[in-house]
Amino acid sequence: MKLGLVIDLDVCVGCHGCAVACKQWNTSGMIGPLTDYNPYGRDPSGVWFNRIRHYEVGDFPHNKTINFPMSCMHCEDADCVTVCPTGASYKRKEDGIVLVDQDKCMGCNYCSWACPYGARELDRVDGTMKKCTLCIDRIYDARLPESERKPACVMTCPAHARYFGDFDNPNSEVSRLVRERGGQGLMPDLGYQPTNKYLPPRPTRPIATDDVRKPSLAAKVKDWVNKMITT
Ligand code: SF4
Ligand code: SF4
Repeated sequence: MKLGLVIDLDVCVGCHGCAVACKQWNTSGMIGPLTDYNPYGRDPSGVWFNRIRHYEVGDFPHNKTINFPMSCMHCEDADCVTVCPTGASYKRKEDGIVLVDQDKCMGCNYCSWACPYGARELDRVDGTMKKCTLCIDRIYDARLPESERKPACVMTCPAHARYFGDFDNPNSEVSRLVRERGGQGLMPDLGYQPTNKYLPPRPTRPIATDDVRKPSLAAKVKDWVNKMITT
């Protein structure tokens, strides 16, 4: 099995719902608190497994905001695992999920330097490295109905921009979407072979726009009539 996420960049509205649901679930779950630093102060920050970047592409008036959620890609060839001196970072053979053993991690930061996707977060309070677990404590919970055995980010996304499944199964929803929509892994040239894939925004027809700087003939006539009445 090769479990991972597909994220539809055409549909993501950048609401940060997935990031908040992720923080809530994992803070309460097996990985322990995702610490907040200075939460009520002037410069709050904290540990997040999932962060949403926002990019503006194209030139006005045909520009567009692309919302880009990023978390651990559960890479097939993950240097974060090979550089770890304590063996705390590991990739599971059975499903490809990359995890950090919190009891073995000494917070040396090597893995975060090795990760090109910024997916690892050092928790300065716990002194350990934390990252997306694909909600491993949720997806295998047999007490949940099968339809709910999905990562919290997928369950909560109001735009249905996120999909979860097995990339080893050619008939799974994630494999089909990647095939049909030209899904891509991020920065393939680095050779990490990220499992998570992104569906690119679909091409859109340019929207016809009026040049508001040039008044129409009707506006000119209206302006002239207004002037005649008021003088
Ligand atoms: S995204 Fe980063 S942390 Fe996740 S498996 Fe790849 S290299 Fe490791
Ligand atoms: S910070 Fe922890 S998980 Fe990362 S390389 Fe060091 S010991 Fe391994």
